[in-house]
Amino acid sequence: MNRLVLIGAAVAALGAPLSAQQLRIVTSTTDLHDIAHVVGGNRITANHIAAGYQDPHFVEAKPSFALQLAKADVFAYVGLDLEVGWMPSLLDAARNRRINRGGSGDVDASRVIPVLDVQPNADRSMGDVHPRGNPHYWLHPENGKRIARLFRDKFSELDAAGASTYRANTARFEARIDSTVRALAPQLAAIRDQPVVAYHTSWRYFQDFTGMNIVGFVEPKPGVPPSASHLAGLIQQMKRTKAKVIIMEPFYDRKMPDFVARNTGAKVLVLPPSVEAVKGVDSYLELIDYDVRRLAEALR
Ligand SMILES: [Zn+2]
Repeated sequence: MNRLVLIGAAVAALGAPLSAQQLRIVTSTTDLHDIAHVVGGNRITANHIAAGYQDPHFVEAKPSFALQLAKADVFAYVGLDLEVGWMPSLLDAARNRRINRGGSGDVDASRVIPVLDVQPNADRSMGDVHPRGNPHYWLHPENGKRIARLFRDKFSELDAAGASTYRANTARFEARIDSTVRALAPQLAAIRDQPVVAYHTSWRYFQDFTGMNIVGFVEPKPGVPPSASHLAGLIQQMKRTKAKVIIMEPFYDRKMPDFVARNTGAKVLVLPPSVEAVKGVDSYLELIDYDVRRLAEALR
């Protein structure tokens, strides 16, 4: 073979910018996006579809998202039907076999999660938006670790040369989660066993993590607006249990929580459920830290 060609090939291999080989990751949410970044470092590029301030059950399927998905090596999503209202049309438009069900880049993060609230009789047609179990699992730091390990394994499979980087990044992330949780010990002790109410069932895994005691939900079922009689029962329950805080996401309407608060003397606490839902919460670790501190303050 011509010597110049050989040299050219060698130079191309050595000098190829890393960007040419970076794995292209798209995630449905900002939380998965941050964890993908932490695990992948500069061996990946990552975009997310839902913004942190948006209700992840309802996201507009813009054509620009389909374009990102068309080029993606991996599409990672929460699963359990969280994205069922907007994901299928984007996947159809993207026409990317790699990320279709069963493809090498199809990553349903829920498959590594011990899922809560699995109710065999739940029915989406009755308004329950969680017929396959509760999808808000990222709000438990142990599940953050599970997601990171899933990404580590998937990225290593698709980019074997990066395996040791992915392994080291994941180990460092797990250690940082542990130290963040350790530093929150006083706040977690203040939260443990305290009665609270939540708007949506999105705080169930956070309950498991913190030990707070959810005594009722503003929604009678996930996604179903409350009736007057449901709210009356909730107010009774809050008086009985002395619940002093109603937790809700920034994107829900405050009207019902404010009404319940007025009738019970409780306060409404707006907590971000996702990275970038509010200013100052720019990473998964900051999200966990912020929510625990704000709740402990509100309960004091
Ligand atoms: Zn939900």
